[in-house]
Amino acid sequence: MSSFTVLDHPLAGDLLTRLRDKDTGPADYRSLTRRLGRLLVIEATRDLPTRPREVDTPLEPFRGTELATGLVAIPVLRAGLGLLDAVVDLYPDAVVGYLGMERDEDTHEPRDYYAKLPPLQGRRALVVDPMLATGGSGSAAVRYVKEAGGRDIAFVCVVAAPEGVARMQAEHPDVPVIAAALDRQLNEHAYIVPGLGDFGDRLYGTL
Ligand code: URA
Repeated sequence: MSSFTVLDHPLAGDLLTRLRDKDTGPADYRSLTRRLGRLLVIEATRDLPTRPREVDTPLEPFRGTELATGLVAIPVLRAGLGLLDAVVDLYPDAVVGYLGMERDEDTHEPRDYYAKLPPLQGRRALVVDPMLATGGSGSAAVRYVKEAGGRDIAFVCVVAAPEGVARMQAEHPDVPVIAAALDRQLNEHAYIVPGLGDFGDRLYGTL
């Protein structure tokens, strides 16, 4: 079974509570998402492989480390775009792929409508999609990345529902999931409760 990690950090709790607040408008929403995203990305890259690197400090030689793998950020459109800057802030050399998935409002199943991925070999792919609800689009996005050659994949979200986590673990047992919270359940419209509403709408002010 894949690992599921919920950030346990006071900063993450503070940022997420402000995201949940229905009175938080799009400008603050983007800033809070980017800041919370950085904490999530730090967690999702905790086990990145490194190799030794020798440098000279002004005082003596030093044997340090450098990353032995690159990063690919793959935001799932459109809400995932809110987390893209968090990856690039921490790792400006990240290359970026885009996956367009939309949810059919009747079946709640995902439909892909756009994909453009960079080479994935030798890189960790961070699939970023803020709300892991049914797990339908998250799982489909990860499947797409695997079919494109991704072998080292992590899924980063802000809020997860138990149903989404279970689906990811069943369909992608090799893919760790990192979230800022595990919420109680889905409602009859497949929204996460208590949740924070429609992430994309709140991020872009399309309410
Ligand atoms: N997508 C959202 O934006 N919010 C939810 O609660 C579920 C899916």
